[in-house]
Amino acid sequence: GLTGNKGWKPHWRDPEPKAEYDVIVIGGGGHGLATAFYLAKEHGLTNVAVLEKGYIGGGNVGRNTTIVRANYNLPGNSEFYSHSLKLWEGMEQELNFNTMMSQRGVLNLFHSDSQRDYAARRGNSMVNQGDDAQLLGPDGVRKLAPFLDFDNVRFPIYGGLYHPRGGTARHDAVAWGYARGADMRGVDIIQNCEVTGIDIENGQVRGVQTTRGAIRAKKVGMVVAGRSSQVAALAGMRLPIESHVLQAFVTEGLKPFIPGVVTFGMGHFYISQSDKGGLVFGGDLDFYASYAARGNLPMAEHVMEAAMTLMPAIGKARVLRSWGGIMDMSSDGSPIIDRTHIDGLYVNCGWCYGGFKAVPGSGFSFAHLLATDRPHEPAARFRLDRFATGYSIMDEEGTGAQHN
Ligand code: FAD
Repeated sequence: GLTGNKGWKPHWRDPEPKAEYDVIVIGGGGHGLATAFYLAKEHGLTNVAVLEKGYIGGGNVGRNTTIVRANYNLPGNSEFYSHSLKLWEGMEQELNFNTMMSQRGVLNLFHSDSQRDYAARRGNSMVNQGDDAQLLGPDGVRKLAPFLDFDNVRFPIYGGLYHPRGGTARHDAVAWGYARGADMRGVDIIQNCEVTGIDIENGQVRGVQTTRGAIRAKKVGMVVAGRSSQVAALAGMRLPIESHVLQAFVTEGLKPFIPGVVTFGMGHFYISQSDKGGLVFGGDLDFYASYAARGNLPMAEHVMEAAMTLMPAIGKARVLRSWGGIMDMSSDGSPIIDRTHIDGLYVNCGWCYGGFKAVPGSGFSFAHLLATDRPHEPAARFRLDRFATGYSIMDEEGTGAQHN
């Protein structure tokens, strides 16, 4: 149907790298593109390049299960994700791009008294932060999600913590929207350009080596998600990060029956339904360190088992596809947005399996740090030295008790 259309214009240019930039952002995922966009929009810095070794949207930004929320518990994460959700709410206007942001609600189930206590505490933190939370009993859950197995005697549903402003967005549209917005403001987005070295002289960053030649820069930001340890190693750094595969699955398209996002409290499983009707779901990490962006069958079986425990009806659906992405897991489950010991070199990583919802907030905060050399207040606790000083942010959400 589109073959008759002529004159399609690319959404962003395909520039040759310049010899020098004020800022180089390594990594054209959601976080790198949002960083470049806010550098230009908020700080007027447009002599900026995003260097992407593959293509825009080929990393985790295009592989995640698209869940967006602000339901963290601990200071540090609370204010950061609250800020990020507000940016999500204005994103389509800000980018003039349909990112299909849909606040269809996130429901975290609990299955014991102690889980209910924790859900109540977390809900209070959310409300104190200015976000929304409702503690539901079994009847409230039944109204929202009648398709769950309420007779399951092993893990009875005691209730759920409901976050109406959470929801889903179209992941690759987020990458495209930020890419177009950054490009329109003069940022060079350079695809098929892998960074292979970081040039440092007398403790100061001078630029990078790439598969398309050397490029000088006054400042360099590393935002490469699952490849964080490898890229930091180019600057002689060892990060508190391990890379693991996370898988996800989608079924054939079905008539709408799951209104929002549901997470299981007694196993690693969560689910939503895409606008095309596919059930999109996932579970736990494959528990071995790996740089392979594909998963293994034992975890697929584990996720399907959890799915059948919570909603046996899913057994009638056929899984169409599964895929994996490489997660930058930090040891406390919370991220890092900070300077490094090398002048002009900055790091943004440790998003674990929850960094899609962080895309606008992370880009905004990292751009602030790169432009001003001062941390942005909502991200001020995401320091690299917390792993040495012991000020970790061990949020139960962040460590994956109910990730998505
Ligand atoms: P990426 O898109 O991976 O970007 C990093 C980029 O860096 C890549 O494009 C890569 O090619 C590039 N790069 C690497 N090395 C180099 C180099 N040397 N030179 C140049 N470029 C380089 N989060 C949520 O909030 N909600 C969810 O529901 C959710 N579900 C998920 C489900 C799955 C299956 C997966 C895999 C992830 C999920 N996540 C979720 C996590 C989220 O997707 C990530 O935390 C986030 O996308 C990471 O940031 P990014 O978008 O910048 O990463």
